[in-house]
Amino acid sequence: MVAAMAFASCSNQQPPDPAVPLSGQPGAEGADAGNGQAPGPEDGDGSLPGGTGGTDGTGGPGGADNPPGSVFTIWFIDVGRADSALVVCDGHAMLIDGGNPGDSSLIYSFLQSHGIRHLDYIVATHPHKDHVGGLPGALNFATVGTVLSPVGTSDLKAFEIMSKYLDGQGIGVTVPCAGDEFRLGTASVKILGPINDSEDTNNTSIVLRVVYGKTSFLFTGDAGREEEADILETGYDLKSTVLKVGHHGSNSSTTYPFLREVMPDYAVIPVKEEGSNGVPGEKALSRLRDAGAAVFRTDVHGTVTCVSDGETVIFTTEKNVAPLTGQQILDGPDVAAPGSAAPGSAAPGSATPGSAAPSDTEGGAGQNHYAYIGNINSQVFHSPGCRSLPLEKNRVYFDERDEAVAKGFRPCGLCNP
Ligand SMILES: [Zn+2]
Ligand SMILES: [Zn+2]
Repeated sequence: MVAAMAFASCSNQQPPDPAVPLSGQPGAEGADAGNGQAPGPEDGDGSLPGGTGGTDGTGGPGGADNPPGSVFTIWFIDVGRADSALVVCDGHAMLIDGGNPGDSSLIYSFLQSHGIRHLDYIVATHPHKDHVGGLPGALNFATVGTVLSPVGTSDLKAFEIMSKYLDGQGIGVTVPCAGDEFRLGTASVKILGPINDSEDTNNTSIVLRVVYGKTSFLFTGDAGREEEADILETGYDLKSTVLKVGHHGSNSSTTYPFLREVMPDYAVIPVKEEGSNGVPGEKALSRLRDAGAAVFRTDVHGTVTCVSDGETVIFTTEKNVAPLTGQQILDGPDVAAPGSAAPGSAAPGSATPGSAAPSDTEGGAGQNHYAYIGNINSQVFHSPGCRSLPLEKNRVYFDERDEAVAKGFRPCGLCNP
């Protein structure tokens, strides 16, 4: 692909409606004009590696069932007071930010250990060094198809260094427009922001929403209330299973109006322990508590892994700590909480959603006399020992399997109840 050169802003480069056709219209060849637009990685597009995502001709993302064998994973990488997430779907990879310059080698070895030699996309959400600083590590290890950034050039040193690495691969920066859509395997990705330019670089963050089956994931960079308000005005669908919390949990992000639309079941805060310039902020945390989200923090949980089967999400955490819920979001995990994360349960590091209360996993009392646990949102039912049990608030209990089926619930594909 011809390297796209730096663009001043997407609006100068774009036709009025730049959206790449998505579900049901896979034949978007030619959309990859190399000009400011996020190309749609369709099968046969020469820019794609020989990934394992050869099933996407028919399995439309964003609603249709995902094809058998489809896999979707996000790693929220612990890069301290910085931000980095790797999204992999059906062998196609997207790296959203890369942490600080000091995280370069961590990012390099993370990709190496996961065998990711090609990134379909790198998203540099905004030119701040805690987001773009470590991207050279990625570019040292992997080739990249498309690099999305809200600006084509920046005098930020870390951005200049990243650009040099891109030059080395003959790749330019693509400035996407809100409304652009593209695919990552069978997942779909939509750019939601920035809508307007801002003097505050954080409010120029690329905000994007990834949809995989019935699960969805919102990445907000360092967007604050100004950009959140802009995005709310567009009327885009923001509802997401998982929210990557904006600006490391700062009080000026994650406003109530925004949260009301996102309504996340889970929120992940990339943050460093102690003395991190007041992040996460207490007000932001209490808003997340009020929204009923279960919260992961990279300082508490380490790297957080989220796997989706298109219906439900399963989290595992590096430090084997259960998600924070309710007042724990403000107070931190209970002394007893770490023990609740998985005594005697499957993989180390697994944190069963909804198991934050120690009583859930200890003693065998509580809900264990129920034979089946349903998720009122996904209408999937599980065995009590399943690793992907819904949050307490989303549960419904059944004594009989037939009862669950009669109510329209489907068995979980993991525990096969
Ligand atoms: Zn920033
Ligand atoms: Zn930041």
